[in-house]
Amino acid sequence: MAQVHVLREGSLEYVDGSSVIKPATVTLVKYRDFDYHDKYLLVDAGGSCDTLDDLEGWLDPYNITSKDIHKIILTHNHPGHKALIRHIGSPEGAMIYGPDYTYCSCFGHEYHAREDQGYIVPGVMLLDTPGHEGSGDRSVLVNTPEGLVGIVGDLMFNSEAYKNPNSTRKQYPINRKDIISSRNMVINDYPDMVKIIPGHGQEFKIEDILREQKIIS
Ligand SMILES: [Zn+2]
Repeated sequence: MAQVHVLREGSLEYVDGSSVIKPATVTLVKYRDFDYHDKYLLVDAGGSCDTLDDLEGWLDPYNITSKDIHKIILTHNHPGHKALIRHIGSPEGAMIYGPDYTYCSCFGHEYHAREDQGYIVPGVMLLDTPGHEGSGDRSVLVNTPEGLVGIVGDLMFNSEAYKNPNSTRKQYPINRKDIISSRNMVINDYPDMVKIIPGHGQEFKIEDILREQKIIS
């Protein structure tokens, strides 16, 4: 079993009907590794406004520092989701798992890998959910004592965007098609998921939305 903690909740604003992206969600996952030691990974790594000090402040309540982060999983490569990797990727630091790109730390070191979908560590699974940026987008599913939690990045900006199919209207048609099929796959294949942590909003339950829309009672 693993634990999920939202370090910084992302947000999104609408101005004159257009969406204005605010900082993205950064999530900490604590897991028991194959060697029976507790370890930590991040899902997404902040934007250019976020500093290493910010990250250290977010980690402080958990009595760890950025040096305790063993892995970083990027849901996709948009700048608001990966900026802190420049501080963390190092020979002693975290390996970075994301779509097929090269990631460098600010020291010029490259520590990156692309893993197939499936369990990356005990209780933490990578799931291909293409659509928002491209074909390499990922979600992360975590087995927690409360049940399965889905950290989905911008596959679902927030619960409002998820409820409203028009939220994808500005995407290219191919991305739109993929987003919708990835969302449906998450919901159909993991009906027991207890919580979704989206890229730019509060956590929510799919069950609550289906009930609100009277799809279930
Ligand atoms: Zn985003």
